[in-house]
Amino acid sequence: MTSRVIAIDGPAGSGKSTTAKAVARRLGLAHLDSGALYRAATLAALDAGAEMSGTAIVALAKSLPVRLDLTDDGFRPEVAGVDVSTEIRTDRVTERVSEVSALPELRVWANEELRSAAASHPRGVVMDGRDIGTVVFPDAAVKVFLVANGEERARRRLLQMGLSTDSGSVRKKTEDMAERDRKDSSRAVAPLTQADGAVLVDTTNLDFEEQVDRVVEMGRKAFS
Ligand code: C5P
Repeated sequence: MTSRVIAIDGPAGSGKSTTAKAVARRLGLAHLDSGALYRAATLAALDAGAEMSGTAIVALAKSLPVRLDLTDDGFRPEVAGVDVSTEIRTDRVTERVSEVSALPELRVWANEELRSAAASHPRGVVMDGRDIGTVVFPDAAVKVFLVANGEERARRRLLQMGLSTDSGSVRKKTEDMAERDRKDSSRAVAPLTQADGAVLVDTTNLDFEEQVDRVVEMGRKAFS
């Protein structure tokens, strides 16, 4: 059976979350940013202070708990009942999240959380991440693999964060994102890769409305 899920995967800064959010709004679905769960688990592990194994981080994540809370049109990352939407975007989390996400035990926990969060929404979800179409929902109704040129991704991310897009900043951001992509693509479990049946959308030269329209169209066809 196909799930009422639109899966959007791709490298860092490819526009997955902003696209997923807009598509969800247009189709009356909820947006779920799976990276937020990995980031929240990383934040919890960093705040705990000690270097931890995958099993220890999962135990911590379950006990605090680290979770995604269903809101009107999306899911809010929480640690011990506190909204951590802003804190999970800080550099200290971004620098360590790929390492934590590579731990197999953590991925088992995250997959359960993501599937049960999706099931908690009556109409369906647009979920973005790295392995949604390959592992979390291989039977998703629509699968998209979103890519864009590295410098363009870096520039968009800096603009989104309200930071300068001078050439030095773009170069540094491009390098940081390439390093994270390298880690996410080369890990043993659930590496970033285009899923079977996923439609490749290169957004380098697309404007935002165009890229949203394309995915909305795929969703309408699949759900009709
Ligand atoms: O999407 P975002 O860049 O916020 O994701 C942060 C990190 O979480 C990624 O770099 C990756 O290491 C991890 N992640 C993952 N699987 C997903 C979503 C995110 O491993 N489905």
